[in-house]
This record gives sequence, C-alpha cells and structure tokens, in this order.
Amino acid sequence: MEKKLFLFFTLLSFGINAQESIKPVFCGNEIFSKILHEKYPALNDAFTATFEEARKTNRHLGNEPLEVNIVVHVVWNGIGENLDDSIINNQILILNNDYNRLNADTANLRSIFHDEAGNANIHFNLASVVRVQTNQLFSVDLFGTNLLAEAKHDVDGGSDAWNPDEYLNIWVCKIQPITLFGITIGQILGFAFPPNNLQNWPADSGAPTPGEDGVVIDYRVFGSNNPNIIDNPDGSGAIIVKGRTPVHEVGHYFGLRHIWGDGGLLGPNACDQSDGVDDTPYANAQSAFDCDTTKNTCTQIETFYNKDVPDLIENYMDYASESCMNMFTHGQVELMRNTLQGPRSGLLMPISGTSDLAIAPSLKLSPNPAHGQVTLEFDLNESKEISIRVLNLNGQLMLNKKVEKYSVGYHQISINSEKLNSGIYVVVLRTNRGVQTQKLVIGE
Ligand SMILES: [Zn+2]
Repeated sequence: MEKKLFLFFTLLSFGINAQESIKPVFCGNEIFSKILHEKYPALNDAFTATFEEARKTNRHLGNEPLEVNIVVHVVWNGIGENLDDSIINNQILILNNDYNRLNADTANLRSIFHDEAGNANIHFNLASVVRVQTNQLFSVDLFGTNLLAEAKHDVDGGSDAWNPDEYLNIWVCKIQPITLFGITIGQILGFAFPPNNLQNWPADSGAPTPGEDGVVIDYRVFGSNNPNIIDNPDGSGAIIVKGRTPVHEVGHYFGLRHIWGDGGLLGPNACDQSDGVDDTPYANAQSAFDCDTTKNTCTQIETFYNKDVPDLIENYMDYASESCMNMFTHGQVELMRNTLQGPRSGLLMPISGTSDLAIAPSLKLSPNPAHGQVTLEFDLNESKEISIRVLNLNGQLMLNKKVEKYSVGYHQISINSEKLNSGIYVVVLRTNRGVQTQKLVIGE
C-alpha cells in the first residue's frame, strides 16, 4: 500500500507509436508520477518539506571522508546476467570517481557551472558480492505492488539483504520491460528508495520493509566495461552506458530528487517545482537520454544565479546521456552528506574507537619497509568481520581486501603491494567496532 510510494525510476523512454522524431513519446515515470499525485496529493508537499528539513539537519558537519560498504547481489538467470567481478569492480571505481569528482569528464562541464560542482567525498568499499542463480523473472507492475521485491528475498529466488542499516545493498538483475495493456511502454534501468526515517516524511514512505531498502540496477547498465547492451527503442542504437545509472540511483538512496523536480508530461511539472536544492537550475522536463546543451526549459531569472541559465544536463540526477553526465552540485552534495550523517548514519564505518576493536595486540606488518608481499598479523578476542585497506597519504584507496569474517585467535593475512609506487602508505584494519592503522613504507 502506501509503503511503496517513494521510489524513483530511471527509465528509458519508449514510443507507443514509435516515431523517431518524437521523444520522449511516453515514459513510465510519468505514469507513475501521475498515479502518485492523484492518489496521494499531499505527498509532493511532504516531499519538499522533507528535503528542506534534510538540508537543515546536521549542517556544518565538515567535509571529512565518509565511507560506505556496498554488498552487490548478482541475481542471475541468463548467463550474461552473471556479471564478472571485473564489471563489479569497475562500477565501484566509477562510484568512487563520481562521488569524489575524480572522473575525467569533469573537464566537459560548461564553464557557467564550474563554481557549482561539488565533491561529495563519499567513498565506497565493496564488502561482498553475493551470487544467486534464479528462475524468477523480475517485473515491475505499475498498478500493483510489485517492486521487484522477489529479487531481495532468498525464498523468492532472490538474495537477502545484508543488514540494510550497515550496508548499501545493490541488487543487479534483469528487469523486465514495463507493459501496459499488453504494450511495452518502457524499461526501468534502476530504482532506489530514499531514507525511510526522516522526521517529516509520511510514515512508511521509504522501503516497504528494511530488507528491501537499497538499489536495484538492470544488469546491462552496471559498469562501463559491461559486454551486454541495451538498445534505445527509438531505433537510435545501443544506449551509452558508463556506470552512471548506479551513480544516479545511489543519489536517490542518499535523498536526492531529479533536478526537474519529479513532475513530468502528465504530472504537475513546472519551473518552480523544486528538487529541494538551490543550486540546480530550474527545469521543467528531463533530458531525453541525449546531450542537448541548448536545453533551457525555464527562461526566467533564477534566484541562485541571478540570471537565466540553461538546464544542467551534466548533472547525474537528470536523464541525459551517461556520456555527458559528470557532476553533482554543492547543494546536492550537502543534502547527501546530511542524509548520510543523519538517517543513514548506520552505514558509516566508525573512524575512531580503537579501544573496543577486539584486537590485541596491535596490528603488525612485516616486512616494513616492504616490496611485494606484506604480512599482516593480528589477534582477535572475538569473531569479527574485518576489512583491510591501504590508503595513500591523500586518503585515496590503493588496495582493498573484501570484508571477511575472522574467528577468535591469531591471524596472518598477506596483501600484495607490488603495484604500489615507493612511498608511505597507511594500512587500515577495520571492524564494526573501530579501526587500527599502521604506517607502511614501500621501498624501491
Ligand atoms: Zn531517478
């Protein structure tokens, strides 16, 4: 019922009467918005109020790095759906690039928006990959209640979430096309639930159950090195995939709305319909999976810019081609970081509290200085899930070992440092109770 209201679709628009010159002709998102607004008219106001509140909550918490553990659930049927580890690692890298403004295509941002580009400083760590083979087909029923919940439950042919308070769960599966009266009208590329427990959201407006909180992505749009293709039904060929659908959906998961304010052709779309963020320019329509830098759907003077500016098609929260997306704004960054330090703070790994680490004695590294294999030694006085990472002195992740559970007692783990340039690094051993660090010197 109402529990399933707030979700966001990235949709590939389809033509009901497939004329190439008309696009988007029809888009499932518009239908969905219309249903929501007609059935639940108060929600849009609540939505806006919530984002205002999210922006106020926990402001000025600084810009320190925030780190989130991801579990990727590959729920596959056809062989191409069982994505290779290299694709999953590539997608994690893209998330880290785009959420740290390290993506090379930042250079393509139009100069008028240079000052508005923000660095979220949110880091993603791949905690685990869970693979489940299934016979289940995953379909979204716009008029029912099916939001691919089966993909999220072992008993239904999916994969159970890891603790959704502590992990960002991403399910990757084949999402069936949307049909209406037997006609295919669209394809969902992904969706996500926003946080469930912001103060002034209507009750139960987030994920229907905690175990369904997270992000769902179609297997063809995960990673930029994915061999599977997905065609644009307008006949223009394969859509360009650069791993930005997960970037977009994780933005929703952190509380962001679409920059055009989530109206649409059939919805209450207007230039003054806000996404709750000041520095995203007014827009009253989404992009059409293209790169139209002339797009300017609202031509009034914009308060933030003190002049009219074009639509910000480079933003990850629009529907432009993935090849021209390259930025979040400062306002979006602030909202996401506030959400992450507010309603989603359980995701954040502890950054202090070594006294309660359940590790004694301290982490030892040998040899140190090293070149090649480095052995980590530590004792655990209780069983723990541990992640091990090597950072450079700028805090950039250089090596990463998956989170694994270790039993009580003494452990030796080897990591390969051959690819590290000579210099000083920090080895970070982390549990859910705290962190221990050691300096590592890599010799010539
Ligand atoms: Zn979206």
